[in-house]
Amino acid sequence: MWRIFRPDAVAALRDERARKSLARYFAVMEGRLPARFLVCKRVKAKVDLSASDEELWRAHERGLKEFRKLLVDTDKGKTELENLKQPESSLLDLKVALARRILKSCHFCERRCGFDRTAGKVGVCGVGERSRIASEFMHHGEESVLVPSYTIFFNGCTFHCQYCQNWDISQYPEAGVEVSPQTLAKLAEGARKDGARNVNWVGGDPTPNLHNILAALNECEVSIPSVWNSNMYCSLETMKLLFGTQDVYLTDFKYGNDDCALRYSKVPNYFGVVSRNHKLAFDDAELIIRHLVLPRGLECCTRPVLKWISDNLGGMVRTNVMNQYRVEAMAHKYPEISRRLTAAEFEKALEIAREVGLQNLEP
Ligand code: SF4
Repeated sequence: MWRIFRPDAVAALRDERARKSLARYFAVMEGRLPARFLVCKRVKAKVDLSASDEELWRAHERGLKEFRKLLVDTDKGKTELENLKQPESSLLDLKVALARRILKSCHFCERRCGFDRTAGKVGVCGVGERSRIASEFMHHGEESVLVPSYTIFFNGCTFHCQYCQNWDISQYPEAGVEVSPQTLAKLAEGARKDGARNVNWVGGDPTPNLHNILAALNECEVSIPSVWNSNMYCSLETMKLLFGTQDVYLTDFKYGNDDCALRYSKVPNYFGVVSRNHKLAFDDAELIIRHLVLPRGLECCTRPVLKWISDNLGGMVRTNVMNQYRVEAMAHKYPEISRRLTAAEFEKALEIAREVGLQNLEP
């Protein structure tokens, strides 16, 4: 049915630029290569998981090096994962253990609240130890290369975007239903069998749920591309734990300066954190970057964001310049964004994208 509503999702399979910039994603999606998290599970964690934090991080660094080597060998056909024994304790087990430790003084995102979420405390995102989801379904509205995308909407968010179109999900962490990593894994496995091109972790934002998402991938036995769909305000530690587990980072790069980020999303130090994480994500896996054009935001946000992408990641990174802005949630309190984007503004945004050298735009 989705083929009728989204003919572009069928055409995306023949889109040469998409295939080039997301080559490994296509290979996993088409069943030619295993998802990264499955490779991660075959790397042995050479450490006792009860060791100190420092020792675990050192073992994690060593494990990542082995992961990268195994990934290359797997992709070249030199190694078949099925022929490798599952280690008693894997790099993914180690990542889950490290994430559980971070949860005790939470610094999953750069707000670094420091609360012990295992002891019932919550930070700015309001998310507790257990994850809650608002919904999960086969999403047909995502980027053409992703559809159909099995999407899981976690309650709670590290941002408070005043124009959030999912305000009822992102700002109500106590809503939704509690879900275990085991259930998430079963849902992802079932969705893959039903034709999902990927599992798409979103919200709100997936970051406060890192521990449960990694645990779910650890439970998942089916090869399905994993998509980290995030505002990218992750801490450096979170980024390191994501390395080797995600096939695609589907990112929101919203603001070209810290003032707009503080005004509209109530978040400090935006540009430095998010640009750093885009570079890390680009080095780790593949990227689709979203940029939502805001009314009157062309020069303060659109131009600097698109230029930064082109200058730092190159013109071939898949970029989605979006015109979907609507006056939602609290946006009416901000006169400059309490209207829809005009057609002229969107045309200008596309012109800027071409002008700065972006050549792989989502159609
Ligand atoms: S994930 Fe939540 S609790 Fe943890 S640092 Fe970020 S906002 Fe604070």
